[in-house]
Amino acid sequence: MIKSETVRQILDHYRVIWALGHAQSVMGWDSETYMPEEGIKGRAVARAEIAQLIQRFMLDEKFVKLIERAEEEKDLTDVERGIIRTLKRDLKFYQRVPPEVVKELAKVTSEAFVAWREAKEKARFDLFAPYLEKIVELTKVVAEKLGYEEHPYDALLDLYEEGLTSRDVEAVFSVLEPGIKTLLNRLESRGWPKRHPLEEVPYERQKVEAAIMEVLELLGYPKSRFRIDVSPHPFTIGITSPFDVRITVRYRGVDFKEPLFSALHEYGHALYELNIDESLAMTPVGTGVSLGIHESQSRFMENVVGRSREFVAKISTILRKHLDFLAKYTDDDLFYYFNVVRPSLIRTEADEVTYNLHILLRYRLERLMITGEVKVSQLPELWNDEMERLLGVRPRNDAEGVLQDIHWSHGSIGYFPTYTLGNVVAAMIYYKHGKIRELVAEGNFAAVKEYLREKIHRWGSIYPPKELLLRSFGETYNAHYLVKYLDEKYR
Ligand code: MG
Repeated sequence: MIKSETVRQILDHYRVIWALGHAQSVMGWDSETYMPEEGIKGRAVARAEIAQLIQRFMLDEKFVKLIERAEEEKDLTDVERGIIRTLKRDLKFYQRVPPEVVKELAKVTSEAFVAWREAKEKARFDLFAPYLEKIVELTKVVAEKLGYEEHPYDALLDLYEEGLTSRDVEAVFSVLEPGIKTLLNRLESRGWPKRHPLEEVPYERQKVEAAIMEVLELLGYPKSRFRIDVSPHPFTIGITSPFDVRITVRYRGVDFKEPLFSALHEYGHALYELNIDESLAMTPVGTGVSLGIHESQSRFMENVVGRSREFVAKISTILRKHLDFLAKYTDDDLFYYFNVVRPSLIRTEADEVTYNLHILLRYRLERLMITGEVKVSQLPELWNDEMERLLGVRPRNDAEGVLQDIHWSHGSIGYFPTYTLGNVVAAMIYYKHGKIRELVAEGNFAAVKEYLREKIHRWGSIYPPKELLLRSFGETYNAHYLVKYLDEKYR
């Protein structure tokens, strides 16, 4: 698989970087799950030191020269080209953005996170605003240093989704916005359920846990390479993909569809990492290629498979066995409970119909922030107006509005659109296959998994996202599939 001697040397050097990243992953997972609270005092220092080490190994002159030399070589295989491409992407950030800016950004964001948490608790945007102003200023510098062709926001999009531009995102939303609004009006006039009594029913954690494990068994999770833990914010982590992949779930004690679908969501992410070709393990291409493609896998499992009538029929016996309170509910009731649609204020609680309008709002505001057309102080009012225009609901305070997401406090501007790309690609996969619901009805999850493995998973990061989609499906982010999927489902 590796024929070039230069690439072989690159991989030898990279092994140390991989090992340091591996240590970071284990520590990150531990921090979120079992570490006692005060452990953070040592952990934060250890992680910062290791991050510095990784940077030092990345910028090692010999290593950089090897990468440059490999780039000149003819006849590289796809894997070798993928390795060079991903390493160059990592290097680009370190090489173009001055260390002072990186350092300043790290400092501001760690302070901003604390300020954001307090601001959200007190619903006071003014406590967070000065930090966000600094973050926006520094992010503008980052965009200029990284470079772009048409719009500074494109430089930021590319950080999270290689090759993504504002033009792509505009094209997606120009289809989604009218499509979703039309659908919402239709659901409103036909009285599609906006609430369900099961949303209020409390559950015992152990019983929902047992139900989730049995559902995952039905899906055929690999026992020796996968585990589930509990954390305040559910996530997936590939400690060593494809050999050790972990997810977490959160239990609030009421509304059991929440942990069920968050487990399915994270399992979709995990399956991606679990199916990456073993030969790519511990190389720069041995992980999912981008946030958008990753999210397509989680949304596919959560929504396309998980919220389908066929899946409900497959798992309802398991659910009833573990959850006594379901005795009086039919499969039809469960389907409507899993698929309530109501315009709401909080993105993370949004259903699959309204979700992308939350992203559209954030995308528009981010672009305006980056060009300076909107000042940070204007954000709360604009946010609320836009919420009302898009979804017909208005936040009563900033905690329900502009302060709800953690992303900006981390300095993640340009990240949100990847969520919508995930939804778009998930719907695209559904139509490209054409028989997913039949397979789910038969309980043939192995065939579903095999299709995803062949089209997406096994390739890791060998090809950039758009190229992967072109190779596997013949097109990239075509939003018409998502509108069609929603239209057909909520008919
Ligand atoms: Mg996700």
